[in-house]
Amino acid sequence: MSSILSPSVEAVIAANVARIRQRIADACARAGRDPAEVVLVAVTKGKSLAAVAALARAGVFDIGENRVQEGEAKRRAAELAGLAGLRWHLVGHLQRNKAARALRTFHVLHGIDSAAALEALARRATEPVPVFLEVNVAGEPSKHGCAPEALPTLVETARRLPAIRLEGLMTVAPVADDPEDVRPVFRELRPLAQEFGLTKLSMGMSGDFEVAIEEGATHVRLGRALFEGAIP
Ligand SMILES: *Cc1c(COP(=O)(O)O)cnc(C)c1O
Repeated sequence: MSSILSPSVEAVIAANVARIRQRIADACARAGRDPAEVVLVAVTKGKSLAAVAALARAGVFDIGENRVQEGEAKRRAAELAGLAGLRWHLVGHLQRNKAARALRTFHVLHGIDSAAALEALARRATEPVPVFLEVNVAGEPSKHGCAPEALPTLVETARRLPAIRLEGLMTVAPVADDPEDVRPVFRELRPLAQEFGLTKLSMGMSGDFEVAIEEGATHVRLGRALFEGAIP
């Protein structure tokens, strides 16, 4: 993996980061929130190590990948290139048989949606691992995530396992042309989390992150918006 982008491409990424930080701040202002409460997770799936390096130089240190294998390769390459201080987030679904590898690569796991996955992690973890439980709020059959009705049991399982540090809930909203159309999905996640005393919400992507922040997102997962005009 190459670790070099042209200066002009780097400049576009840095400008994108600045613009997104401003949009995050504006959304927080509308909601009466402190922007320091919102973590920007840059999703770099399909992008090279050079993209990760450019993001780090622009001050983005939370890096998201949706596949264990790609995350593994990228983290290893980042370390070889001397890129330190990154926090790696698995934002995609975790297959049980990849639990050990996921633990070695990622600091935070966002896509956990079954007791089996929690137990597989707990068997392998050597220290408590921060986890977001994925909820399929909209009930889309094509999506991962547990049904809201399954959440009480899943939370109970997570809390019974000392190796799991339950952080909050995560959701992926349906694709929509107008982000207002998915506001109700985001709006449902916060009370679900509050029911269990959870305060962190991983929700919002390039097309809908401002609405997600207005509805309480603490972690937005952005890919396309960061690379617009820079990397296809
Ligand atoms: C790819 C991906 C994102 C980022 O999506 P963009 O639309 O590119 O911002 C966020 N979350 C998950 C789970 C993803 O797979």
